[in-house]
Formats: sequence, structure tokens, C-alpha cells
Amino acid sequence: MLNLVIFGPPGAGKGTQSEKLIKKYNLVHISTGDLFRAHIGNQTDLGKKVNEIIASGNLVPDEITIAMLREEVQKHPNGSGFIFDGFPRTVAQAEALDSFMNEIGEQISIVVALDVTEEELTQRIALRQKKTGRADDAADKLKKRIEEYFSKTIHVLPYYEKQDKLSKINGIGDIDVIFSDLVKVIDPLVK
Ligand code: AMP
Repeated sequence: MLNLVIFGPPGAGKGTQSEKLIKKYNLVHISTGDLFRAHIGNQTDLGKKVNEIIASGNLVPDEITIAMLREEVQKHPNGSGFIFDGFPRTVAQAEALDSFMNEIGEQISIVVALDVTEEELTQRIALRQKKTGRADDAADKLKKRIEEYFSKTIHVLPYYEKQDKLSKINGIGDIDVIFSDLVKVIDPLVK
């Protein structure tokens, strides 16, 4: 089974590339951001609990995030593979994911990290702000999330590097070129 982690800062193109990878490799998409947004939209207890944390651009505590992820994975016992998008974001989450995959007799096959510099992301946001002609709240929140990524989440990379599972892919440029770079490192793992 092919189990992928797609990694990168907010705005790196994880969502766009995930969509293409799901189609090509027939994977179950698990995006913790999407799951949290669904909980918030449905006003579940979990949604109410995480609403303010997410609105501020901070990370949701590991305990809550890991429990939600477990539940979601268990909903797909017959999946032909998973793509984890926006998870893990901390080393504790990465460890939990490994032990959880182990429990179900699986493992993470590869971690593809979209490499986009903080400078490029800041420029993308600035450009977006210029286009709309105003500095809106959403852009401010995105900036906070990018800061969270470079201060906290980036530490997950050495965890997978040590396991020899990390592939860094240039995340700047044409969408199809980036996709074909991803396929080049993933294809050899598909039997
Ligand atoms: P995303 O759509 O992946 O950028 O996630 C949106 C927000 O949901 C993040 O800014 C966090 O507040 C929260 N979130 C999503 N995934 C995680 C995670 N793995 N750990 C902690 N918080 C998360």
C-alpha cells in the first residue's frame, strides 16, 4: 500500500498537488485542516473546541488532532492507500502516526515536502493583498500560519530524513512540472 505524507507550508500548493496525486494513485485523502473545518461547520463539540485556536492561526493540541486522525483512518479499512495532508505538524504527531500505521500493519512509504522559501510565500501573500487592494484579516492569519510552520512544523523534516523517507521537491513554478517531479519519486514505490 502506498501511504504518502505531503508536507509544506501554507500556500505551498499541497492541496493542488494532493488532488492530482489522489487521482493518479487512487488514495484516500486525509486533510486535518479539512476535517477541522467540517467539525466547525457542523458545530460539533470538537468544532467548538478548536474554532478559536484555528481562527488565531495556532496549532490545535496534539492530543485532539491525533485522536481525530485515528478516527478518520479507521473509517477506511479497505482503502488502497492514504495521503496525509497537513499532518503531521509536530514530531509527536509524526511518532503517533508511525505507531498507528504499525498497528494496522502499514507504514509511511514516503514524505514529499514542497520546498518553498519563506520569502516566496511572503511575496505571494503581498501580491494577493495588492490585487485585492487591502490588507485583509485572512492574509494576516495566513502570515501567522506560515510563521507557525517555520518555527514548529519544519522540525518534522529531520524526523523523516533520519528514516530515509524524505524527498524535497521544488514547490515554485509550473503546477504540472511540480507534479511530474512528485511522480518521479513516488512511481518507483508503486508495485
Ligand atoms: P490547513 O488547512 O492544513 O492549513 O489547517 C488549518 C488549521 O487547522 C491550521 O492552521 C491549524 O490551526 C489546524 N490544523 C490542521 N492540521 C493540524 C495539525 N496536524 N496539527 C495541529 N493543528 C492543525
